[in-house]
Amino acid sequence: MTTKAELIKDVVSVDATRKKDMVRAAEMYANSDAIKKTSKRVEAMKTCRNVIKYAIAFADNSDTSITAKKLLQINTCKNRFCPGCQKAKAINDALDITTLSRYLTQEKKYRPLFITLTIPNITGDELDNAIRKMNKDIDKLFKRKYYQENMKAWIVKLEVTRNKENNTYHPHFHILAFVHKSYFYERNADSFISIPMLRKDWQEVSNDERITQVDIRKAKGRTKADREKAVLELAKYTAKSSDFLDSQEVFDTMYNALKGKQVIRFCGELSVLKKVYDFDKYGLFEKYAPKTEEMPELTHRLQLDWHKDVYEKSISELNEDEKKELARTVECETDKDFADTYFDDLHKLYQTEQKIEMIDTTDANEIEKEVLENELKNLKRKKSECNRKLTVMEYVAKNMYANFKFKEFDSEYDFLKAMDLI
Ligand SMILES: [Zn+2]
Repeated sequence: MTTKAELIKDVVSVDATRKKDMVRAAEMYANSDAIKKTSKRVEAMKTCRNVIKYAIAFADNSDTSITAKKLLQINTCKNRFCPGCQKAKAINDALDITTLSRYLTQEKKYRPLFITLTIPNITGDELDNAIRKMNKDIDKLFKRKYYQENMKAWIVKLEVTRNKENNTYHPHFHILAFVHKSYFYERNADSFISIPMLRKDWQEVSNDERITQVDIRKAKGRTKADREKAVLELAKYTAKSSDFLDSQEVFDTMYNALKGKQVIRFCGELSVLKKVYDFDKYGLFEKYAPKTEEMPELTHRLQLDWHKDVYEKSISELNEDEKKELARTVECETDKDFADTYFDDLHKLYQTEQKIEMIDTTDANEIEKEVLENELKNLKRKKSECNRKLTVMEYVAKNMYANFKFKEFDSEYDFLKAMDLI
């Protein structure tokens, strides 16, 4: 099993010059005339990770050699072009993707395929529109029959790199697609997506015959851990700081082209599953998550303060509040809590539907009508939100009962019956 620490190391190697890159990115952001920004966001990016506090343990009989560290406190800006926040996001994405793909391979018997789709290099002016078009084209591609029939779940990750020599940009997709394992035994022309077929289909939906670079392959590697590493390709940065820190022009171009764009999308069965994962308070994914290694007792605080162009280090003993915070564990909710939440949401849906039915605009004047129509719009939005949440909860009830960490019902049957699903 890959441990969390190894995983983190795999995604991004520790970079001592990161904060310097962050300072440079923050300056470019602040100095840009082409980017819309607020003074609050400029300040947040400038001060991001100015103070970092770790809880640490020392090796026996040593006060210099650190054996374990855990993040205690940090301030972040969450800007997509902040190299520090990019790293944190990449680690999070890696954990999410690893956990979800383990669920799919273990419980659903799905197997991953790696797909790369590219378009010919383009200029900075074309980048914004090209990304919009690619996002539409890929949806068209996966709506085609063979893909629909074989792909159960997929994650689409957008990456943009830059060619320094001729100042062009290279937007492309990394896709992790899950097919049922039987896909590999029934290997015949009707169900197997080959590279030439993928190329032809991608050319067709993109309406661009110049496309040559596409790829589809199984995860390589002898061990499970090796094969899992391939999944992490998707957690890499959408835009690399070595590209966007090159000049103000490049920074502005990439920033504006990626602004407001979704760069990672969870599709097919994963669109529901990712929502389950995000609201999970029941320990549903616990057995698939990369394990955190055993930690020795953390005794001290290592504080880093950014000062001019270095982190100044200070070490002191942890105080009682910090020790308490470190010892805090979040208790999972039970299957019964889940069923209760489900009924609360059903009730909310019912109430919303009642309110919608009661709205009557027949005798209303112009002003009243506008008010009522606005209310109707809000209620309808609430209704579809409720419906979406209920669909996700029903997926959990029907597929994941065994995964509840704490159970109050005697059996899955009792649980489903209580939820009115049998
Ligand atoms: Zn940041």
